[in-house]
Amino acid sequence: MELNSRIPSGPLAEKWDTHRFEMKLVNPANKRKYSVIVVGSGLAGGAAAATLGELGYNVKCFCFQDSPRRAHSIAAQGGINAAKNYQNDGDSIWRLFYDTVKGGDFRAREANVYRLAQISVNIIDQCVAQGVPFAREYGGLLANRSFGGAQVSRTFYARGQTGQQLLLGAYQALERQIAAGTVAMFPRTEMLDVVLVDGVARGIVVRDLVTGKIESHAADAVILATGGYGNVFYLSTNAKGCNVTATYRAYKRGAAFGNPCFTQIHPTCIPVSGDYQSKLTLMSESLRNDGRIWVPKAKADKRPPAQIPESERDYYLERKYPSYGNLSPRDIASRAAKEACDAGQGVGPGGLGVYLDFADAIKRVGEQKVRERYGNLFEMYERITDENPYRTPMRIFPAVHYTMGGLWVDYNLMSTIPGLHVLGEANFSDHGANRLGASALMQGLADGYFVIPYTIGNYLASATLPKLDTSHPAFRAAEAEITARTSRLLGIKGKRTVDSFHRELGKLMWDNCGMARTAEGLRTNLQKIPALRSEFWENVNVPGSGAELNQSLEKAGRVADFLEFGELMCRDALEREESCGGHFRVEYQTPDGEALRNDEKFCYVAAWEYQGDDKAPVVHKEPLEFENVHLSTRSYK
Ligand SMILES: Cc1cc2nc3c(=O)[nH]c(=O)nc-3n(C[C@H](O)[C@H](O)[C@H](O)COP(=O)(O)OP(=O)(O)OC[C@H]3O[C@@H](n4cnc5c(N)ncnc54)[C@H](O)[C@@H]3O)c2cc1C
Repeated sequence: MELNSRIPSGPLAEKWDTHRFEMKLVNPANKRKYSVIVVGSGLAGGAAAATLGELGYNVKCFCFQDSPRRAHSIAAQGGINAAKNYQNDGDSIWRLFYDTVKGGDFRAREANVYRLAQISVNIIDQCVAQGVPFAREYGGLLANRSFGGAQVSRTFYARGQTGQQLLLGAYQALERQIAAGTVAMFPRTEMLDVVLVDGVARGIVVRDLVTGKIESHAADAVILATGGYGNVFYLSTNAKGCNVTATYRAYKRGAAFGNPCFTQIHPTCIPVSGDYQSKLTLMSESLRNDGRIWVPKAKADKRPPAQIPESERDYYLERKYPSYGNLSPRDIASRAAKEACDAGQGVGPGGLGVYLDFADAIKRVGEQKVRERYGNLFEMYERITDENPYRTPMRIFPAVHYTMGGLWVDYNLMSTIPGLHVLGEANFSDHGANRLGASALMQGLADGYFVIPYTIGNYLASATLPKLDTSHPAFRAAEAEITARTSRLLGIKGKRTVDSFHRELGKLMWDNCGMARTAEGLRTNLQKIPALRSEFWENVNVPGSGAELNQSLEKAGRVADFLEFGELMCRDALEREESCGGHFRVEYQTPDGEALRNDEKFCYVAAWEYQGDDKAPVVHKEPLEFENVHLSTRSYK
């Protein structure tokens, strides 16, 4: 397998412009002769499908929800970054680029990140033109707030519902194309395989989730924008439906998987409350603008927070990282919370919590202002915990939130399978080993609105694409495999539910491939996960049939993929003998407990190639070169 990143030559700041000029174009009259499949209608897929439709391509767009409006992107709360510098506080494209590379602990490609920072400003213009109701300052300019890992305010927001508002913008653009006939929308349809003809992606096989019908669709190019795989941990802040199936099945057809172990643990989530919980809830990072994080200095201090005087509190982020304080990046803030709880200073049931306290902010700006800024988040917190965060500090704890790993893509967002492009959280691209807050929405929309419309044209204009349709034997073969797999799942009739397997896998992943990883724990997982997988295929019980709406069957297929993919994550985590960003190998840390990178041996993207069910995958390495920023030890002190 060859990993050609296709980074354009020339100075960093000119690469994208030069590349845009040098790429081939498809003339307007020819665009309608090409068909493109977009799997996913979240911010990345919705933006791509709408833009490609507007350009004149024939687009088919697929999602498993009943409407594109329900993609997981709708959950995004805090905001979206852009280097507009409306605040005049020292921001620039260069600074956003630098913060993002540093935030990712120097494990992302410079050229991609620079392009992302450049495009960030266009995204805001586009969304405002669509009517996205971003918050505004008294003078009418868009307002900004701060997010972790930055000392400037560059995060644009719509209260705590930024993802929802951005998605409504992308959705209305998509609906316009659906009405115009350039996009055909297939909701409640799950992609279960990518079809390759002569080594090139030429279509997909899907299951209609309402009728169970298995069907094929052919096209000239395929785009996956299918989101992240945080649910491999069972408990995460992701929507329950988020899964790895689309990207994992593409991996099994030959697409390399980049840095699968790079997972983001978000520091501010509502703590786990019991064994039967199925989901965790994020409290947006934006809350760290005004909330102060602390624990009692004394161990096992059971006093209510109001009775603990200032002198007996440890505002540990402010103490350890004075220049970034409560706005330290997520990986660092999460580890610091874990450290405090491991030291016995945690609060709440089981001692697995820290306080996020708004008392000072309420004193400073008043309750009304705090309500305006974060009202919906406070309400959500109160509904879940029955505690009023205006009166008593929130209790928070880290939880799985985002996956930086994903299918490996080149600068054009094409995977190692020609014709298969990957956008948004589904690719590995821009965030290295740790994503900064408010950068996922930026990346998804950059990919969908501004990168793929150029690069797919270049691909279509350069590739030789013989005409074909779904009568090609490759489609029949893939359909037969899917049908057989579905029947096998339904035929096991074992004794355990799909969820019980998922929960057990999630615990193994959290314990041994979560916030802290050791070679020993990862090796344990590499033994236990295959055993759990074998048991799944012998003892799972999937009720119902394949010819109807059957959510157990949907889940079973996804969990079967997680049971293979979890092993790949552990392999990747074991192979990377360093700590970087969200990947913390306990064996590799500085004397004061910070991540210890090993640039000499591990300054690369690990891209895994599938070799078959009975063989270990092979890792390929794309070296990362830093010509514009210095590889340095990350410091937020
Ligand atoms: C609670 C929460 C809050 C967040 N807040 C922020 C924030 O404030 N700022 C920020 O930048 N980021 C935030 N993020 C991260 C961000 O929301 C996501 O990374 C981003 O929205 C992902 O967008 P996407 O388009 O790549 O994928 P998604 O929005 O997850 O969309 C995936 C799409 O793919 C479809 N799909 C998946 N698999 C299949 C399949 N097999 N067949 C057919 N369709 C399929 C789904 O139906 C869906 O349409 C937050 C994340 C969470 C969990």
